[in-house]
Amino acid sequence: MNISPAIKSLNPYQGGKPISELKRELGLDEVVKLASNENPNPLSDKVKAAIIAQLDEIGRYPDGNGFELKQALSDFLGCEQTQITLGNGSNDILELLARLFVCDASDEVIFSQYSFVVYPLATQALGAKAVVVPSVDFGHNLEAMALAVTDKTKLIFIANPNNPTGTYLSDEAILAFMDKVPSTIPVVLDQAYFEYTASKIGVEMIEKYPNLIITRTFSKAYGLAGLRVGYSISSVEIADYVNRLRQPFNVNHIAQTAAIAALADEDFLQKSILSNRQGLRQLANGFEALGLSSIASSANFVAVKVTDANAVYQQLLQKGFIVRPVEMPNYLRVTVGTKTENTSFLEALKFIL
Ligand SMILES: *Cc1c(COP(=O)(O)O)cnc(C)c1O
Repeated sequence: MNISPAIKSLNPYQGGKPISELKRELGLDEVVKLASNENPNPLSDKVKAAIIAQLDEIGRYPDGNGFELKQALSDFLGCEQTQITLGNGSNDILELLARLFVCDASDEVIFSQYSFVVYPLATQALGAKAVVVPSVDFGHNLEAMALAVTDKTKLIFIANPNNPTGTYLSDEAILAFMDKVPSTIPVVLDQAYFEYTASKIGVEMIEKYPNLIITRTFSKAYGLAGLRVGYSISSVEIADYVNRLRQPFNVNHIAQTAAIAALADEDFLQKSILSNRQGLRQLANGFEALGLSSIASSANFVAVKVTDANAVYQQLLQKGFIVRPVEMPNYLRVTVGTKTENTSFLEALKFIL
């Protein structure tokens, strides 16, 4: 069999360990998962009702153009429907964008050290060259990223807030970066955690920077990670090309239905943002009380430093807590849970240390 060397050298994406898997492995009854940056709050009642009302439609193919969800999004965002691309999670769109812009093995894709693992995966799968720019204080070094641009650069990824560090770049810093990057080079601004921030960068900026592509998701603050739905906002031209590349029915009907209902449930969103803010403070204070340093986070997770991340990770698993080992040496990434989950996690961590 002929397998592409690029794919042979890939390491599969390592997600947070599923709750069911840990229960099975250790025979535990109760497991707390703080590993995948999911929303810890129970599903919005309005979303639940909307899903239930559509269950009988499951036998049919979804609307492949996602008309109603795009209409709801364009009203919400104040952009044209033709600027929106829907994805099976925003992950889907990140990969489609890499496929769209990367043409051959000498092409370069720029992203930061300690950034979202999907960027190197998508780049490597295409056999392209990853240009990994060293981070400063665990965040993006935008000056260095701008200097890394060459005539081979085909795509730039920026996650803001960044995952797994939680670091945040100001709107001014992002716009100053956009001013430096040639308008022929697409820049993906991955705003998976946008709702938790005060950033104002949105669709208006695409008029000024047609090479800017913004991706967002319903997986985090909107609480729909299991349904896989995200979207991008871009120029009409880029959206048109991605539309040619995507799978015909990449977002299922229940996901589309749920996303429309979630977008309308402002109350749920505001409660999620508030509980997250409180949870971040609870975790940061808890770490401080244990003498641990953590990276200030603008997202729904926090990276905490321990002396032996792997040992602490394993011992937490034994006690029924799933967190996430990350690339930064001796750090673990902990998703903000409910108040009760955070409390029991901090107690388990204290016991282990
Ligand atoms: C979680 C996350 C995403 C995407 O999640 P989807 O569930 O695929 O929408 C994208 N980028 C970053 C930085 C993330 O942390």
